[in-house]
Amino acid sequence: MTDQTPHPCPSPYGRGNWYAATAPEFPDLPSLKGDVQAEVCIVGAGFTGLGAAMALGARAIVLEAGRVGCAASGRNGGQVHTGQRRDQAWLEKAVGRDDAMALWRVAEDARASFKTLTETIDCDWRPGMIHARHKPQGEAEDAAYIALMAERYGYDQLEPIGEQALADELGTDVYHGGLIDHGGGHVHPLKLAQGMAARAMAAGAVIHENTRAATWRREGGRIVVETSGGRVTCDQLILSGDGQLNAMAGPAQARVMPINNFIAVTAPLGDLADEIIRSNAAVSDSRFVVNYFRKTQDGRLLFGGGENYRPGFPSDIAGLVRRNLAKVYPRLAGVEITHAWGGTLGITLSRMPFVSEIAPGVRVASGYSGQGVMLAPYVGKLLAEGNAQTLALMARVPTPPFPGGRWLRWPLTVAGLSWYALRDRL
Ligand SMILES: Cc1cc2nc3c(=O)[nH]c(=O)nc-3n(C[C@H](O)[C@H](O)[C@H](O)COP(=O)(O)OP(=O)(O)OC[C@H]3O[C@@H](n4cnc5c(N)ncnc54)[C@H](O)[C@@H]3O)c2cc1C
Repeated sequence: MTDQTPHPCPSPYGRGNWYAATAPEFPDLPSLKGDVQAEVCIVGAGFTGLGAAMALGARAIVLEAGRVGCAASGRNGGQVHTGQRRDQAWLEKAVGRDDAMALWRVAEDARASFKTLTETIDCDWRPGMIHARHKPQGEAEDAAYIALMAERYGYDQLEPIGEQALADELGTDVYHGGLIDHGGGHVHPLKLAQGMAARAMAAGAVIHENTRAATWRREGGRIVVETSGGRVTCDQLILSGDGQLNAMAGPAQARVMPINNFIAVTAPLGDLADEIIRSNAAVSDSRFVVNYFRKTQDGRLLFGGGENYRPGFPSDIAGLVRRNLAKVYPRLAGVEITHAWGGTLGITLSRMPFVSEIAPGVRVASGYSGQGVMLAPYVGKLLAEGNAQTLALMARVPTPPFPGGRWLRWPLTVAGLSWYALRDRL
């Protein structure tokens, strides 16, 4: 069977990617040639696959279609959110109190594991995550949520911030107050991905770049993964290609849809940087198409905003992001933008990741829906360890297929997403 899906990393790290311009040189890793054996084959060297490879060391061979961290993991906003992608109030309704509490513990374990990563890999970690409300309503809901998290979950890192205090903190008065999560923060994601790859290789894992897995099949009780350059025969397979996986990922294909999101970075802001995000936290707002932003170590504004729902990026990414940036910071409307790029991420209908053993010994995790920086490395570790109880817990979270089946899901879902995006502008 020939693989007809577009290449997940068409240019190594995306043209104009500021992370690629500021990460240390990372050596090219040889592509796979010939037939090799491994206990576990991992497809995809993003945060999920690398988390698995770190846990497995010499037991793993990783196949990466592009370069380490070249897709979402090396192109994202670097925002580190605590918890699951859906908040605990939503989860309690969707999966019941017990599973919601167990999912919170998974997220807290992921946070502890992420803390160790940032302490041992140089990735510009900074604490603090602000959630800003773009509408006047919501203060009471935020207060109730802070109380729920403190009383039921023992999480005391959330703090309300009023409208004026938020305006002083951010240097803009477009928001109506919000929440500060002292447990979150931000990182340079490509430095983190490359540091994870180096750690996995130091533990004995082999990573092949520019090696795209096309199919897998069972043969003589083992699993054979075919690539253009050779094949891997293994006992277990971890599919961690996020929204870009092809038919190899079985039921994940109908449940995880790729969408594109865009980021721009300004020239250093000089003294103005002191007036913007004074605490140096990361910020995301409550819009359906979220605006997310933070300062870099050299005083630039890194701003994410804008999506599209079709294969390919627009030709003027900087212009698209500038329009959103200027609404949040009108005084930066004419600022010089030095870098702008796009990335593809997997989303699910429920916005919770699809985690499943799709066949004996074949595990998939994808569709973190914009919140994978903290969770994905830990979920990769869970896939590697085959932690049956936790994997079953995550598999119980509903991630239904997109309506319309394989062929109609694009137009139907795009219509739905576009409607919500339009509502942001009303
Ligand atoms: C623009 C953007 C902004 C984002 N911002 C944030 C944020 O601020 N905070 C947050 O928490 N999350 C954010 N996300 C989401 C986050 O980046 C992802 O959830 C996370 O990186 C997913 O990691 P992953 O390893 O599962 O997938 P990826 O990083 O996409 O890795 C999958 C890898 O698999 C490879 N691959 C795919 N198919 C094959 C194949 N057939 N053979 C071999 N290799 C293959 C790809 O080349 C890729 O390297 C953002 C995503 C984007 C795109």
